[in-house]
Amino acid sequence: MTQSTPAASGLRTITHWIDGKPYEGSPIGRFPVENPGTGEVEAELLQASDADLDYAVEVATRAQKEWAKYSLAKRTAIMFRMRDLVLEHQDEMARLIVAEHGKNYSDAIGEIQRGRETLDFATAINLALKGEYSYDISTGVDIHTLRQPVGVVAGICPFNFPAMVPMWMHPIAIATGNAFILKPASMTPSAALLTAELYQEAGLPDGVFNVVSGNRKMVTKVLEHPGINAISFVGSTPVAHIVQDTGVTHGKRVQALGGANNHAIVMPDADLDFAAQHISAAAFGAAGERCMALPVVVAVGGIGPDLARRVKAHAERIKVGYGMDEGVEMGPVIDAKSKEKIIGLINEGESKGAEVVLDGRGLVITGHENGHFLGPTIVDNVPLDSELYREEVFGPVLVIVHADSYDEAIGIVNSSPYGNGSAIFTNDGGVARRFQLDVEAGMVGINVPIPTPVAYYSFGGWKESLLGDTHIHGPEGVKFYTRAKAVTSRWPSEKTYAATMSFQREE
Ligand code: NAD
Repeated sequence: MTQSTPAASGLRTITHWIDGKPYEGSPIGRFPVENPGTGEVEAELLQASDADLDYAVEVATRAQKEWAKYSLAKRTAIMFRMRDLVLEHQDEMARLIVAEHGKNYSDAIGEIQRGRETLDFATAINLALKGEYSYDISTGVDIHTLRQPVGVVAGICPFNFPAMVPMWMHPIAIATGNAFILKPASMTPSAALLTAELYQEAGLPDGVFNVVSGNRKMVTKVLEHPGINAISFVGSTPVAHIVQDTGVTHGKRVQALGGANNHAIVMPDADLDFAAQHISAAAFGAAGERCMALPVVVAVGGIGPDLARRVKAHAERIKVGYGMDEGVEMGPVIDAKSKEKIIGLINEGESKGAEVVLDGRGLVITGHENGHFLGPTIVDNVPLDSELYREEVFGPVLVIVHADSYDEAIGIVNSSPYGNGSAIFTNDGGVARRFQLDVEAGMVGINVPIPTPVAYYSFGGWKESLLGDTHIHGPEGVKFYTRAKAVTSRWPSEKTYAATMSFQREE
């Protein structure tokens, strides 16, 4: 990566990216970027000052004015090139993700692939931007609609998908004619900087895509900055509330995707082997650090112990280890604090009477003793009033609760304050149909435990999992990053009728 320069500590410095080049500015500090698989700090991330952010906004504002004048043909050509470059560089990007997030290599490739789907969508932005036209709405009067960019938009991103979540945002924001300022999570910034280099190679004009890293104070400044017109946020619910409240107060368009605690109902008629295999993969993939992970199963009609046994049989075979090592299926959690929080929640559930069916608390990976590893953990009969059930654990933990009937199960699911994704395992089409209508969640799976929509549909939850009106990427992303304009026109040469003081429409 070209943006690195040596720091006083001897560690690699990760800079910002402004106006088409690495930018150091006047940082107020340095954030230690750790490899969660080794526990070692490998780089330092510059933390932007107010002046650095002001500079980024100034550059982006200037660049956006010119970029919005690029024809759709030119914009989509750049998106095509960018899409190919991301594919060509996916190995490099995946290695950066493994080194900073810890997920295993194939999972990192998976997130890049899913992010690239939004670039695919953006290559056809001309279709999504087609307006409407009606002629002779009154005699000789026509109307048509346009969608125009909102200006400078910022994306504030979480640590868990360093490539995919930003790619839910910037391809559509940029293809629709905006300039973009990406604020990556401080723990996982490098994929954002590689993205910046690739945009430049793709021919995107300088200043249209910028990366600025910083602390909470810097994010607050982003939310208040008069030069930023819209904010996309993805992260935890408490921060989503801050982003929504502050951004809206400062007159910005905001979409704030929050946390999750996704539930799946397993009906007694389900194919339990099929369900167990999929539940294990969905609960423990990426060490449970996915907003669409499946941390809670509601077992209906006495199948709990059988289901727990079957999930355990799959989970105990998962190979946990360093993300680049051969055959590794699950890496560490992000840091020591997160590991401690997860263990604390398992302990709390156990102290309230839950049964730990599979215990990953003591796992040590030989050769990586300082990595933040936890093994897959299954906890059965978890009380609904425990923190283990109620909190977003965000780790490799599957909680099993029990219900006597579908009605009781859907009541449990809908009592969650979150509503990101939810699934049902059943062979009964009638129950599945009822579930898709009853469930209070934005993304629903029928025998699909992680119902993440493809990029030409939009992604988003309900309740505390999404604040704001629009879902992210796909058609709703286009709506979010553009403003509607309706143009009513008449040509005097047609001499249709004289002006009148009346508000009545001429017919
Ligand atoms: P986080 O909320 O801690 O951080 C997200 C971003 O906000 C980061 O860039 C961070 O620097 C910034 N931030 C943190 N605290 C802030 C504050 N007080 N004020 C202003 N900015 C602040 O989230 P995280 O731990 O990085 O990511 C995990 C969370 O993200 C989980 O809750 C997960 O469910 C959620 N997530 C949700 C989705 C979704 O689509 N709904 C997708 C991915 C992750």
